[in-house]
Amino acid sequence: MLRSVKTLTQPLDLIVIGTGTAGSAPAYRCRKAGWRVAVVDELPYGGTCALRGCDPKKVLVGAAELADWHRRMQGRGVSGDAHISWPELMQFKRTFTDPVPADREKAFQEAGIATYHGPARFMSPERLSVDGQMLEARHFVVAAGAKPRHLGIPGEEYLLTSTAFLELDQLPPRIAFLGAGYISFEFAHVSRRAGAQATIIGRGKPLRQFEQDLVTRLVHHTRSLGIELRLDTEVTGLEQRGGGYRVRLDAQGRSETIDADLVIHGGGRVPNTEGLDFSAADVATEPDGGVRVNEFLQSVTNPRVYAAGDAAASPGSLPLTPVAGYVGAIVASNLLKGNARRPDYRGIRASCSRSRRSRVSA
Ligand SMILES: Cc1cc2nc3c(=O)[nH]c(=O)nc-3n(C[C@H](O)[C@H](O)[C@H](O)COP(=O)(O)OP(=O)(O)OC[C@H]3O[C@@H](n4cnc5c(N)ncnc54)[C@H](O)[C@@H]3O)c2cc1C
Repeated sequence: MLRSVKTLTQPLDLIVIGTGTAGSAPAYRCRKAGWRVAVVDELPYGGTCALRGCDPKKVLVGAAELADWHRRMQGRGVSGDAHISWPELMQFKRTFTDPVPADREKAFQEAGIATYHGPARFMSPERLSVDGQMLEARHFVVAAGAKPRHLGIPGEEYLLTSTAFLELDQLPPRIAFLGAGYISFEFAHVSRRAGAQATIIGRGKPLRQFEQDLVTRLVHHTRSLGIELRLDTEVTGLEQRGGGYRVRLDAQGRSETIDADLVIHGGGRVPNTEGLDFSAADVATEPDGGVRVNEFLQSVTNPRVYAAGDAAASPGSLPLTPVAGYVGAIVASNLLKGNARRPDYRGIRASCSRSRRSRVSA
């Protein structure tokens, strides 16, 4: 059904798309400088780190660490059972995540920032529509984050995202993790400590962006815990089997299958910009959807638009929260004082730089 679109009479100075780490600094700093600012989010306010990523994960990792300490101290002055109750742990996790959206929105509003809910979509280089309203602004910051990569394998619809894993009320006995990145490793370790049988399936080297000496030790330790690590193996498809799934594998030319109750997508994330309709705003992207930016994090094709965090294709960057916060502050400075600040990613290994792994497209 088509919705009527109302036009705002007074254009804004800045609209920020995304209320996560990357979007918050530009919104607050520009508002503090007297700009008329709005933020938009299609999901509850707070972004990935606080609601669906680092923070909830760390609650689970904390419990897993405690269980591990307890196991290792057995016979050394500690005795008894340290059992993780998954439903209780999830309830505890929610005490951290549940208050976030309302708190974040209240804080924006108290700072004088207008808040909008719904998917933002560009209608022209200076306008976007949100929930039936047309908003106009001098500048935009695209801080739309990332989403699981589309894999194009049969049965992909059965994969559970990391977000769904962090919401599981019960942990099933057999869990397979597609991909050998940090999300799969962390979740597999947590699951194993909570009593599940975990299998990680990765087609190349595990944890490619991390220090390889440490990765070798971690791989050894992961296996010693009973986590099955299948490397040089590709998931070629999934099908439903009984109450669970049969996962088809290609292990260097050998066809194999494993059965699991759940299969989690840990196979990489890409910028979440598809729904923004950049063609209407003349914003060029990399093939994976990341906004092509210049050294000042400004769109190379529409100077009104800046990008920050997981949604920006900034060479040398990595999709991590401290990086999102860092570049968000740089975007704020460049908006307010003119293009002067460039991000310096030298402290971050550049092997995952988007500029290297994808070609440029308009
Ligand atoms: C499971 C998991 C664990 C992680 N653990 C860590 C960790 O331990 N340490 C670390 O540094 N990083 C971690 N990360 C990565 C980290 O969470 C991200 O790099 C960071 O949150 C990115 O922030 P952002 O502001 O760019 O995007 P986000 O926080 O993702 O915010 C983007 C927002 O934009 C909104 N949005 C998108 N499109 C639209 C649209 N069209 N209209 C309106 N709103 C829109 C989204 O709803 C979202 O709220 C983890 C990620 C995951 C998934």
